[in-house]
Amino acid sequence: MKVLVTGGAGYIGSHTCVELLAAGHEVVVIDNLCNSKEMALQRVRQISGRPLAFVHADLRDAAALAALFREYAFDAVIHFAGLKAVGESVQVPLDYYHNNFIGSLTLCRVMLAAGLRTLVFSSSATVYGDPAALPIREDFPLSATNPYGRTKLFVEEMLRDLQRADDGWNIALLRYFNPAGAHSSGRIGEDPNGVPNNLMPFITQVAIGKQPELLVFGDDYDTPDGTGVRDYIHVVDLAQGHLAALERLMANPGLVTYNLGTGRGYSVLELIHAFERTCERSVPYRVVARRSGDIGLCYADPGLAHAELGWRARFDIEDMVRDSWRWQTCNPDGYT
Ligand code: NAD
Ligand code: UDP
Repeated sequence: MKVLVTGGAGYIGSHTCVELLAAGHEVVVIDNLCNSKEMALQRVRQISGRPLAFVHADLRDAAALAALFREYAFDAVIHFAGLKAVGESVQVPLDYYHNNFIGSLTLCRVMLAAGLRTLVFSSSATVYGDPAALPIREDFPLSATNPYGRTKLFVEEMLRDLQRADDGWNIALLRYFNPAGAHSSGRIGEDPNGVPNNLMPFITQVAIGKQPELLVFGDDYDTPDGTGVRDYIHVVDLAQGHLAALERLMANPGLVTYNLGTGRGYSVLELIHAFERTCERSVPYRVVARRSGDIGLCYADPGLAHAELGWRARFDIEDMVRDSWRWQTCNPDGYT
């Protein structure tokens, strides 16, 4: 297949490009590099030993997108491009609505004009808000507690409306839990801009001495050790979930929604200890107040993806911390 990957230079996108190329697909990436480096794509080509085309453009540039669709006869689009920092989305909501919502809308319009209606969309477990029960199933009520989450929810709603209006659309909504880890080569990984927001890159930056200590946001949640519990999933498992979703759309047209998680939650302290044990590095930490907007527990029921896609996560928490650490030590300053 010929696949357009929006945001393909980013963390999850670059790992998905590797898996697509390994499976023999042809890949074209569109990315404005607002949160990534072109070097990531160079590394993807090196890992894969295969060519990959790159177009440096913004998704909201309808003319550039349309030109791309004239140049290539795509079979499908995997849509990662978007902004993803929850705290920043509270500060500059219009930037988030403009980028994530208008970007997705522009993409759909151009796809429709070009006659292509097969799309895999990066959604997030954040669309479940603070879940009433666990593990989280796809049919749970949806809500969002911040502008970033609302952009994901609104794009999901738009795509459901689009598919209801025209059942020629084939759409997979993939709700990711907490991506972690890196490619086993140590050549591509997560390269946060400035101080990391997410737990795993923060831990590796403390371990390598780039951050003095980890602040643990709250130990008074209703969890076994009081710290927040999340469903960490290896980014390579996540990437493979996209290929499984694409295959499903080709064989069974329609709109599908899947959780991509492992089904197992780890607390902040469990993740720190797994890292210390596996990587033989200590991670100094200090417990502070809860981070505003955080929830206590979040983990998936990944049963539907297993039943319908034949997909399930293969890597465990030790793989995630080991691969994140390899990426951090091989690339102390990321791609720069
Ligand atoms: P990332 O920031 O590493 O990758 C996103 C890529 O999109 C970047 O390369 C960025 O330059 C590009 N981009 C952003 N806006 C663009 C635009 N208007 N035009 C062209 N390119 C643009 O993020 P990621 O972690 O790889 O996440 C990928 C997707 O998955 C995002 O949509 C994100 O919201 C979603 N997601 C991520 C997580 C997570 O924790 N990483 C969890 C759930 C969902
Ligand atoms: N967390 C923490 N310190 C940090 C970053 C995160 O204690 O510096 C906690 C956070 O409160 C949550 C878990 O780690 O319980 C995962 O947070 P992350 O931001 O990685 O993901 P999300 O909040 O989106 O699930």
